[in-house]
Amino acid sequence: MSKNAVPFNRPTLLGGEFDNVLVAINSGKVAGDGRFTKLCNEWLETRLGAAKALLTHSCTAALEMAALLCNLQTGDEVIMPSFTFVSTANAVVLRGAVPVFVDVDRRSFNIDPVAIAAAITTRTRAIFVVHYAGVPCDMDAINAIARAYGLKVVEDAAQALGSTYKGRPAGTLADMAAFSFHETKNLNSGEGGALVLSNPDLAERAEIIREKGTDRSRFLRGQVDKYTWVDVGSSYLPSDILAAYLLTQLQDVDRINTNRLATWNHYHVALAGLEAAGHFVRPQVPDYARHNGHLYSIILGDEVNRDDFLAAMRQNEVAATFHYVPLHSSPAGLKYGRTAGEMTVTDRISERLVRLPLYFDMGHGSDRVVEAVASYFTA
Ligand SMILES: *Cc1c(COP(=O)(O)O)cnc(C)c1O
Repeated sequence: MSKNAVPFNRPTLLGGEFDNVLVAINSGKVAGDGRFTKLCNEWLETRLGAAKALLTHSCTAALEMAALLCNLQTGDEVIMPSFTFVSTANAVVLRGAVPVFVDVDRRSFNIDPVAIAAAITTRTRAIFVVHYAGVPCDMDAINAIARAYGLKVVEDAAQALGSTYKGRPAGTLADMAAFSFHETKNLNSGEGGALVLSNPDLAERAEIIREKGTDRSRFLRGQVDKYTWVDVGSSYLPSDILAAYLLTQLQDVDRINTNRLATWNHYHVALAGLEAAGHFVRPQVPDYARHNGHLYSIILGDEVNRDDFLAAMRQNEVAATFHYVPLHSSPAGLKYGRTAGEMTVTDRISERLVRLPLYFDMGHGSDRVVEAVASYFTA
C-alpha cells in the first residue's frame, strides 16, 4: 500500500487518551467500575438525558443484557431487521427466543414499521430496532405498535451516538438502548459499549446482571453490608483502563461527529452528478433525523457489477466494501430464526450496497475516494 492508499477505517484517536490511561493505571484500580467508568456513565446519562447508563465491554454485551431485561423465554419471538449485525440476533437466540426477521424501508434501510405490524403473533414479546448508519428509525410509529401490543422496544444504537430523532437523542427513544465503542464506530476504546436505560425501573436489575448476578453495586454504595448471588448474570464490565481511553473521546464527541459529517457531506455533494446520471443512489436521510456521519453508502444501479466496482476501487487503493450479509438467509438465521413477509429491499441492498471509506480526520482521503468513484463511471 502506498501512502496515498485510503483505508476503509482508522480508529478515532485524539491524543489525550494516553494521559487518561496513565492516570487509570497509576491509580492502582484497573478493574471495572472505577473512577473513569463512573465518569463515562455520568457523561452518557447527562448528555443523553437517560435514567441510567452502564458501560459494558461491547455493544454485544449490552444487547445480551437488554435481552435478559426483556425476560425473554424459550419460544418467545422478537421482531428485528434482517439487515443488521449478528449481535442483534444472537442476544435473542442466547435466551432461547426466536428472531423474526422483517424487511427494511427502501429509503432509510431501517426496519419498516408496516412489516413489524404484519409480523406480530401471540408469541411476540419485543422489537429490536437498529439505527442503521446512525440514522434513527421511525420511532413514533414503532413505539405506537409496541404500546398497542404491550411489547418492549430495544434500540441497537451501536452506530448512533450523537444522532437525534425529532430532536431527541438516539438511545433514549425506547425502553433500552445499546451503544458500541468498537474501533469501527465514531467513538471507540478498541472494544466497548454501553447499556442505556430510559426506564428507571430496570436500573437495579441491570446492575445485578452486569455484576455476575450479584448485588455488588449496591454493596459498593453502602446499601447492603455484603454482596451475594441474587439473580442470573454475567461479567459485562470493561476495565477502567478502557473507560479512561473512552472518556477522552466522549468529551469530544461533537468535534468527532462534526468532522465525520463534513466528510459525509463532501461525498454527498461530490457524488450528486453521478447519481443524476443514474449510476447509483446516494443515502436518503428522513427529515425527522439528524445523523452523526457514521457511514456513507451508495446503492449501485442494476447495470453495475459490484465485484468489478470494488476491484476497481482496490486498484486505486481505495478500500470500499459491502455491508451486511442478510441474517434471514444465513446458516444460523435459518436455524434459529424465522422470516416474516417479503425481503425485497434487504436482498436488493445487501447485493448492491457499497460503503465508502469514512473515518475521523480523513483529510484529502475523501477527494481520492471521489476521484476513484468518478473515474470508474467516466472511464
Ligand atoms: C457494531 C455493531 C454491533 C456490535 O458492536 P460490538 O461493540 O462490536 O459488540 C451491534 N449492532 C450493530 C448494528 C453494530 O453496528
